[in-house]
Amino acid sequence: MVPVIGVLALQGDVREHVAAVTACGDVRAVPVRRPSELDAVDALVIPGGESTTMSRLLETFDLLDPLRKRIAGGMPAYGSCAGMILLANEVLDGRPDQQQLGGLDVVVRRNAFGRQVDSFETDLEFTGVAGEPVRAVFIRAPWVESTGAEVEVLASVPQRTASGADAGAAAGRAVAVRQGPVLATAFHPELTGDTRVHALFCRMVRDLAAAV
Ligand code: GLN
Repeated sequence: MVPVIGVLALQGDVREHVAAVTACGDVRAVPVRRPSELDAVDALVIPGGESTTMSRLLETFDLLDPLRKRIAGGMPAYGSCAGMILLANEVLDGRPDQQQLGGLDVVVRRNAFGRQVDSFETDLEFTGVAGEPVRAVFIRAPWVESTGAEVEVLASVPQRTASGADAGAAAGRAVAVRQGPVLATAFHPELTGDTRVHALFCRMVRDLAAAV
């Protein structure tokens, strides 16, 4: 049986993630909006969008507690951008009422690249992704301020961006992390047509399924 990977479909760039997961092959991608749909998946992608809105919709759709429980129970999860914010144990510059799913022992700073910097792009060396560097598109993105002992940093912002500009305060910040079955990127690999980060997640899902 091929693993079923859900894409949380409350808000954000759901279609792009469904396409990127499907492109990995040997997995099935389905949208998840209800608790019963969450029960039926082996893993979940949490897309980019707006973490405060998604947090509110998770409560409205009665998904917050079931999803927290699945993640605490070891379900593989991958969050991009707003998804990373939701998975983080702690958020700086969040809204006071914004809820966390947990699962990732990191502190993230929301809108960290600066309010004026809507979007920022660079190439990243990414542990676990072979070949060319990964083109990373950041859109009002968070970065990781600190990581717990169990968290592996997979990619950080280089001093010089792809265009040769100095990355300034962003230089050296962790922007891709993994803790066991939980993967997160501050950027949006679903927007570039390069599906290697999704392929990494699909491999994690298969490896973890094979291990039980
Ligand atoms: N700034 C957004 C938030 O706080 C994230 C942006 C994104 O997902 N592109 O959720």
